[in-house]
Amino acid sequence: MFIYVRVVYIVYRTKFIGDFLQKRKFDMLVSTVPDYMSNNIEIPTIQREPKIWTLEQKQDFIDSLYNDYDIPKLYFRIKQNQPDKWILLDGQQRLSTTVEFLNNKFRLGESSTMPAEIRKKLYREISPTHKQRIVGKVLDCIQVECTDDEEEEMFTRLNNGTPLSAAERRNAVRGEFNLSIKSIAKHKFFRNKVNFSSKRYAHDAVSAQLSALYLAGQPIDVKGWTLKELYESKRRYPERRTAESKIKKTLNLMNKIFERKENYMKKYNVLSIYLLLQELTDNYAITTIKPTKFYQFFDNFEAERIRNSQLPEDATTFDRDLNEYQINCVNSPDSENAIRIRRSVLLKKFFLKFQEIPLKDPVRLFSDEQKQAIYIKYNKKCAGVNGFTCPNLGTEMPFENLEFDHILEHNEGGKTSVENGQCLCISCHNHKTASYNSSSRQNR
Ligand SMILES: [Zn+2]
Repeated sequence: MFIYVRVVYIVYRTKFIGDFLQKRKFDMLVSTVPDYMSNNIEIPTIQREPKIWTLEQKQDFIDSLYNDYDIPKLYFRIKQNQPDKWILLDGQQRLSTTVEFLNNKFRLGESSTMPAEIRKKLYREISPTHKQRIVGKVLDCIQVECTDDEEEEMFTRLNNGTPLSAAERRNAVRGEFNLSIKSIAKHKFFRNKVNFSSKRYAHDAVSAQLSALYLAGQPIDVKGWTLKELYESKRRYPERRTAESKIKKTLNLMNKIFERKENYMKKYNVLSIYLLLQELTDNYAITTIKPTKFYQFFDNFEAERIRNSQLPEDATTFDRDLNEYQINCVNSPDSENAIRIRRSVLLKKFFLKFQEIPLKDPVRLFSDEQKQAIYIKYNKKCAGVNGFTCPNLGTEMPFENLEFDHILEHNEGGKTSVENGQCLCISCHNHKTASYNSSSRQNR
């Protein structure tokens, strides 16, 4: 079926919730709703619509379409780099009801204001002229460009008309989680070292994000939705003491490392640095690294990131990892994916700088980030083995085709560190293992 799309774009700026929102108005023809629903419109899974329409409400809605009554506007959020993906902020019931009706899922009402011959009919049973009065109607739509926080705020306002911001609403939830967040947000690192104000509970928001990440034990989505859920589900918070002391310990370390308030200590960097240090203190022997060394590492990382962001992508010194980091500070920085990528880039850069750092647990294999660093260290090539001609000598190889090996064997006391790690092609690795096994047999 050919669906013609009548989309009129008018770009303009206006005051709605903030002056900052870029808005775009367009019309959506009712006949095109199913098409948009399957190709463009995304309903955030977390967005639980509290009010699901009854059959009568659904029938009323189609009735309004037929009679050309005013229908409230539909709101979508678009992301700059994905103009074809529209996140629905308001209008779920209107859209799903339209799709259901066009798919003959319910009948028109008995007592509607429609002509008698179409009452109690399914869509497919009514005449083309009547159909046209419904599917030819246009829905007013608004697309906005906004941040995650603004998305949540807008959603709430559209749905409840509440004047509170997302963080303000979270703050209104009483319970132990809230108390714990308040206590973390008072930490001197927030007071003295971060480069964002505590206005509208921003320190609370980041403290809640750190708690959410600690509780999950891995990168997760820490947008407002997730936080709100924690405030509500953890009114009793048995993990509070452990969580709080662990988080504050890492904040103490951050406070020690950063002696001044740095420009780059924005929310996204607080999260990345926290996760890096948490991972390092949990799993690696880092006591030999002085706070000043850490500081130099971060400071240099940030300087490099800014320098890199000004390079054209085809420059020989353009660093894809730094670029990935950069993108994920700007684009949905609180999503699971963005947090995972930032953490991973920082860890990889860290291991390239501090190659001697071993894992605490000697039994553990190289971590992914160590492998990434080793891969870069050997210029994506097989390191080769003495007395054996590598079949892949000098050729760059995909990461997944290489194997990661202790230069000094693990049971000879070799550390699981980037310094003592090399990447080998399968042939070289097999040769090394075979000759090692035969020599250790001879020694017996
Ligand atoms: Zn090889």
